[in-house]
Amino acid sequence: MPDLPVESFAPSHPSMCPCCSGAALFLADGTRSNSGPKIEESESFTDAEKTATSAQSAKEHFLLEWLRPTEKKQVSSTRQSVEAQYEIKIEEQDQKYKYSYQADGKKYTVLESEASDKGLAIAKSELDRLAQEKAKSIEQQYKVSFATSGEPVMREQLLNDDCSSTKGAMIYAKTPTLRQLQATELALQQSQPSQMLSDGKEGVKIYFAEGRPFSQVYGGRWPLGVMMSGEEGKKPRVIVTMDGAKLPATDKDAEPNGRNLKWVLGHELTHNSQGNMWGERHIVPQKIMDQLGWSSENIEKDGQILLRYQFALHGKNGEFYRHQRDDCKSPSVWFRAKEDFTPLNAAGQEVKTIKESQTFSNEEIMERAKVRPNTYYFMNAQEMHSEGLTGFRYSKESREKLLSESPKVYESAKEYDQEELDRFYGKDSSGNAKVVRMPDGTIVPRSEVSIRAIDEFEKR
Ligand SMILES: [Zn+2]
Repeated sequence: MPDLPVESFAPSHPSMCPCCSGAALFLADGTRSNSGPKIEESESFTDAEKTATSAQSAKEHFLLEWLRPTEKKQVSSTRQSVEAQYEIKIEEQDQKYKYSYQADGKKYTVLESEASDKGLAIAKSELDRLAQEKAKSIEQQYKVSFATSGEPVMREQLLNDDCSSTKGAMIYAKTPTLRQLQATELALQQSQPSQMLSDGKEGVKIYFAEGRPFSQVYGGRWPLGVMMSGEEGKKPRVIVTMDGAKLPATDKDAEPNGRNLKWVLGHELTHNSQGNMWGERHIVPQKIMDQLGWSSENIEKDGQILLRYQFALHGKNGEFYRHQRDDCKSPSVWFRAKEDFTPLNAAGQEVKTIKESQTFSNEEIMERAKVRPNTYYFMNAQEMHSEGLTGFRYSKESREKLLSESPKVYESAKEYDQEELDRFYGKDSSGNAKVVRMPDGTIVPRSEVSIRAIDEFEKR
């Protein structure tokens, strides 16, 4: 008698079902009825039951015949669940299963097993081991750490009608898959040293969350990643939400201009960098506000800026735009405003609500802005800076795109990036930078050769 998985037994054959007395019934389509406690696959047969069944050869023959179609279906459903859990594709070839994942336009085949449920079970623990190894090597190289399955991330923030927020259920972390780790490694490789904490000794902790910690932002979008700093007793954390975690790994796996996990992580790491460079409150320096074409109102106390409040984006013709919403239940939108933030309608008259004002799509504002943002996400100067810096470091192609489409953002990002490199790696005795970032994002010693290569890249 083969080692049959419990799901192969249809509930209409109670005499052969080891799990029918008050236990859960596993249905042929892989779903489970809720008539009792959960039974794991490993509990399918006791040895005594196996011996008893193997003695009944006539029955066994009948059973095998009867099970054949269901068994096939079952194998594929277990296989599908392994594929989903590990973000792996399983292909059958010469009675073997081959396990691979897709990242950065490549197919990584990581494992092979016998083409059976037993093979799948062994493969699962191997996939766990491979992911653990990969996580460990990333942790060692970049000094970051990963949260693993079951670690609490934070309580869900629920938005009330009056704009206040209440705390909902706890959201837990999930150990990242090989595919997610690959994207994370690529993001870290391009983002150095932005993953480091201000002490320069250890890096951020990275969480892959199983839920949505925050409500929708920027025109009703679910956040893909969040950078949390300044939480009491916690070191800065990068949280990838469930929506971010399922994104394609890199631009080579995504639709053109689509978001991808490497970008999201690179973006969140720039926020950690902003904290290191601008202080705990992440107050954008006036120089960068000017470079990117934003104005703001400062909230000050005892001569110290506590907050730069309500950013206004400058248009090409001296006009201003804002991104806001009238109430917490409507999606935020770009609209025409006075520099003091009063909404204006298409005729340039003051109106009371955003609903009555002249509104625009992100793309329209990109065209109208005095300094063209490099992506659709620029709801304030901090985010516009973040996206510029991500584009600058992500790849040679994205740096090229940034340079040709948003040259002012390029200049601002390059200057900031060099300041961060100098802060982390230091300067030589003549006050020159020790390292520079090459067009492909790698960090190399500053030399005539590296400087010339960057100049040539920028002249093209
Ligand atoms: Zn951001």
